[in-house]
Amino acid sequence: MTDDVKASGVDFHCHLDLFPDYEAAIARTEAARIYTLTVTTTPKAWMRNYELTRGTRYIRAALGLHPQVVAERAGELPLWERHLPETRYIGEVGLDAGPRFYKSLETQKYVFRTILVRCAEAGKKILSVHSMRCVPAVLDMIELYLPRDRGTVVLHWFTGTKSEVRRAVNLGCYFSVNAQMVKSDRGRALVADLPMDRILTETDGPFIDINGHPAEPTDIHVTADLVARLRNVHVQELAKTVIGNLHTLVD
Ligand code: MN
Repeated sequence: MTDDVKASGVDFHCHLDLFPDYEAAIARTEAARIYTLTVTTTPKAWMRNYELTRGTRYIRAALGLHPQVVAERAGELPLWERHLPETRYIGEVGLDAGPRFYKSLETQKYVFRTILVRCAEAGKKILSVHSMRCVPAVLDMIELYLPRDRGTVVLHWFTGTKSEVRRAVNLGCYFSVNAQMVKSDRGRALVADLPMDRILTETDGPFIDINGHPAEPTDIHVTADLVARLRNVHVQELAKTVIGNLHTLVD
């Protein structure tokens, strides 16, 4: 994923397949040389995402089963397992204990546990993980089912405490940070505190708006700029660090 010194940024979590002009968004991302992970929400969406990105230089597709759709889509878990050998990248997966999804939490745990176990068996997988209102349980499950030498988790839109950040760091996790996170005091404190060598950037487009439109990978410079200000580094230096972190992650 990272053989090009001319890369300009990293968007490690977006949903390119949810853009109406999906193919144009891919072309813009390639032209802007942004390393991008496009996650899927259901195993049924995988094939199309994979086919449309397999010829690209900067974009990789991830195979997911989103916790927010587990209530309706848990039956697609065998399909997820069947596609697993086709990719190194997994996501969006995880747990969501928000009020709308709490009811399916036990099923979500079953699905997430199966995903972690299968990834540990396969080895070298990289997972983009959602942990909304469920950070302790997500970290417990990573610790139990995905040993550090069997795969790596990137915590997407992480909202844990400082001690949970330390715990995640000790489990080998990275953090993909988006523009929305730095809008709250709590989010800013968290981003200011992350170890520099574990930071990645993301847009989570199209679910986050940047400058009045749904964010896409080419907007990652806005995220990079916000994080750079918080960390008191030049935006170019931040971008270089993040590209280096991605390099370490995928090597
Ligand atoms: Mn997402």
